Amino acid sequence: MLTRFSNDITLNEKLFARIKTVYDLKSSLELNTEQQMLLERKYRNFLLGGAGLEDGKKKRFREISEELSQLSLKFEENVLEETNSFELHITDSSDLAGLPDGIVEMASMEAKSRQKQGWIFTLHFPSYIPFMQYSDKRELREKMLKAYTSRSFRGNDHDNRSLVQEITNLRLEIAEILGYNNFAEMILGDRMAENPAKVQSFLDELYNASHPAALRDYENIRKFARENGFKDEIERWDWAYFSEKLKKAKYDIDDEILKPFFSLDPVRKAVFDLASRLYGIKFIENNNIPIYHQEVKTYEIFDADGSFLAILYIDYYPRPGKSGGAWMTCFREQRSEDSKEVRPLVSIVTNFSRPTETRPSLLTFNELTTFLHEFGHALHAILSKCTYESLSGTNVARDFVELPSQFMENWAFEKEWLDEWAVHYETGEKISPEMIKRIKEASTFNEGYACDRQIGFGFLDMAWHTITRPMETDIAEFEAKAMSKTDLFPKVESANISCSFTHLFGGGYAAGYYGYKWAEVLDADAFSHFKEKGIFSKDVASSFRKNIMEKGGTDKPMNLYISFRGKEPAIDALLDRSGLK
Ligand SMILES: [Zn+2]
Repeated sequence: MLTRFSNDITLNEKLFARIKTVYDLKSSLELNTEQQMLLERKYRNFLLGGAGLEDGKKKRFREISEELSQLSLKFEENVLEETNSFELHITDSSDLAGLPDGIVEMASMEAKSRQKQGWIFTLHFPSYIPFMQYSDKRELREKMLKAYTSRSFRGNDHDNRSLVQEITNLRLEIAEILGYNNFAEMILGDRMAENPAKVQSFLDELYNASHPAALRDYENIRKFARENGFKDEIERWDWAYFSEKLKKAKYDIDDEILKPFFSLDPVRKAVFDLASRLYGIKFIENNNIPIYHQEVKTYEIFDADGSFLAILYIDYYPRPGKSGGAWMTCFREQRSEDSKEVRPLVSIVTNFSRPTETRPSLLTFNELTTFLHEFGHALHAILSKCTYESLSGTNVARDFVELPSQFMENWAFEKEWLDEWAVHYETGEKISPEMIKRIKEASTFNEGYACDRQIGFGFLDMAWHTITRPMETDIAEFEAKAMSKTDLFPKVESANISCSFTHLFGGGYAAGYYGYKWAEVLDADAFSHFKEKGIFSKDVASSFRKNIMEKGGTDKPMNLYISFRGKEPAIDALLDRSGLK
């Protein structure tokens, strides 16, 4: 319905004629930057929405776009169904070997909630990730990994193989109808990266920096496993397990040691306080705001001068039927209407571990950075100060949108910040300087591998979206070829990434996955500016707010960035931070 509605707008000839009239006159209209951006974007959206096509092609355009939206939805539903339908039911406590108490308790609660004896592990991250990191039972890790990586690739009703093929081919067809060589070329037209060749060379540059490090990481894990009596090849299901063990041996740090210092409420407070300190804004809990679920928390946010900025909703815990992962979304976006200011309603959704009967919700370090990440997106919306809704807040180029979010993650590694608030939830003992130092050192641990892997996903994305002829070959083969440069492990026949890659085939990251790494270059470079001037520097924060956070998509991202930083971003800060230099 939404796609049909959007088509009705972009394919409305009278409406397009008006937009085109304005567009053709643009050089004589004396538009300001924001108005120019709006005009460019609207005009491009109409063109990408088929407005410039002749009638026969318009009809086909409509068919394809409606079909694509149905197929993407179906793709996501299949993955959700496959994620939810699997459970690893353990009834013999010896099968829990290696698993930390908190994880075991969660699994026991999960079993209870399903009216079963014993323990249940699922494919949702708070259950799946620690299981893969800690379970001593290799065959169970294998079972879990195979269940996870074969989602929607099992030949059942929720198999996404044919959907991947159909979606890719229809995307190619739509790009061709609109006059592009491939889908990526069409998508990248208004991105910072501009075109597929630039993305490819960006990925190649990072690949060259990270692949040797990835091989070193792999070798280190292999050696470590050998030294500990492991005789087999390192398989995918051994990676997280031995990584965690080696990390522990090297830095004496792991999720279980850190979690007690990151209980949810103090984390939330620290994250809010950080924003207050940087931008002078205030958060006030208000329980009278209507919510869609009893667990959702609501806050009013005010600027330093007392003016109202936004409402923030936070929905922390997993529950049946809720999607996995974490995201930020807006129920209403910021805009300015005849000088009347409409402020945004912003929501953060996560799937953090629920509190148990004996302990509060304790976040892993990764969940701490996730919180900061989504909060960064939220701030982008909260601080927005634009005229037009379609350019406000996070309505920016896809490869720029992760800058405010990834940027916030940097504080999680800073002693100055952690020192202020991270205390053990039971003993009240402060997180030690030694521990913080180790967090920082550990942050570059396996970073070569992690970067290589992300780039592999980027290669896969670009491969799918730069095809110039309809896809007929086997999708597993296509995927293996696209990712061969970055793959380190023995092949797992039942595994496939594309079939559950909702970023590419469900959500809007098609031809945009490289954007995560692209934004990392930006966020590392931006944060290095804070490091130079002090991580709580009000001056730098205020420039970041004024030039980036308030500006949404009202100017070209590179212009915004340069007005904050005084220069174009360079890759060095990222390589430095990741220990790849
Ligand atoms: Zn994000």
